[in-house]
Amino acid sequence: MSIKVVNITKSYGSFTAVKDVSLEIPEGKLVALLGPSGSGKTTLLRLIAGLESPDRGQIYFNGEDNTHRHVRERRVGFVFQHYALFRHMTIFDNVAFGLTVRPRKFRPSKEEIRERVHELLRLVQLEGLAHRYPSQLSGGQRQRVALARALAVEPKYLLLDEPFGALDAKVRQDLRRWLRRLHEKLKLTIVFVTHDQEEALELADSVVVMNEGRVEQTGSSQEVYHQPANPFVYGFLGRVNLFQGRIRGGKVTLGNAEFTAEWSNQSEELPAVGYVRPHDVELSRTPQHAQSLAAEVRHIYALGSLMRLELKRLDTQETLEAEVTLQQFAELNVQTGDTLYITLRNVYVYVEPENRFVQAALPAASALALRANG
Ligand code: ADP
Ligand code: MG
Repeated sequence: MSIKVVNITKSYGSFTAVKDVSLEIPEGKLVALLGPSGSGKTTLLRLIAGLESPDRGQIYFNGEDNTHRHVRERRVGFVFQHYALFRHMTIFDNVAFGLTVRPRKFRPSKEEIRERVHELLRLVQLEGLAHRYPSQLSGGQRQRVALARALAVEPKYLLLDEPFGALDAKVRQDLRRWLRRLHEKLKLTIVFVTHDQEEALELADSVVVMNEGRVEQTGSSQEVYHQPANPFVYGFLGRVNLFQGRIRGGKVTLGNAEFTAEWSNQSEELPAVGYVRPHDVELSRTPQHAQSLAAEVRHIYALGSLMRLELKRLDTQETLEAEVTLQQFAELNVQTGDTLYITLRNVYVYVEPENRFVQAALPAASALALRANG
């Protein structure tokens, strides 16, 4: 069951929360809506569910126009971040709720409901807790009950709004894996809202990056991370170093380092900003080639499996971060105050006057050779 959103706009008074959004969610996929707080994720999810109606645009479920269909007819299941379970009801009754409130004509028999609920509790691995009350469960268990309750009515689509947002890091990680497996088993179409880039990248078949009510980019985890469409996506998906520079005729200059980029404007020199991820800053004790830049080590942070170094470039005085493995760190044998040489890999360049974001490369091998007189 696919979902297609076409040019949807939704305003509250004079404020537009969702601006001309179009996207396709293929059948059986798990798609993440990722963006900062206030970017319109919840509004978009509520529009898909039918809890809000759009000012403009259409929403199709499996090719059928659902824009004006009532929420009850859309066969969607929901889980919200703080979807409080009914406190006075047992876990069993919470999960059974959606079935027991059906009109008599559509309501399964008591026995059928009992079977369905136990099957769902097995699915979310809470068998044996049916007679407990929500207050007797952990946060992670409660969210699994909320998922079981959403699944009880056999929805065709599952819409999850930051379902693990209130839980601690370890529980969140476990639930992510668990949800991934559940998705593989049930093959439901799932739309998952999160502001956590790691969660989106780890979970989703495809990621929709939102900002200020618009979609900035849609793609696989790999695409949005490694081929970001613009500076917003780049900055939102990971840590970033910024360097001030210039571009002219395909030649990018960031301080003393030069790069090449595909660039059609040959005549003008324009200001450009280089974007580099900390793990793309290569470190060495001695200069590796003509584009190596000297930098002083200011701070060293142990991050567990990685080491993060804060450095200051000696050519531009700009500060930057580099991340290396423990082994690389040991081989560098480095201390605060030492001078290292850095090579910037996988550089992206933003040219603001032309609003273009292009990938840059180190010059060809011959230009990389160490200058003889250094
Ligand atoms: P997100 O889920 O990405 O944090 P929301 O979709 O909840 O973002 O909200 C997007 C913007 O729309 C926010 O600025 C929010 O204040 C506004 N908004 C959401 N719902 C309403 C509403 N019912 N009335 C007025 N403004 C709203
Ligand atoms: Mg929200």
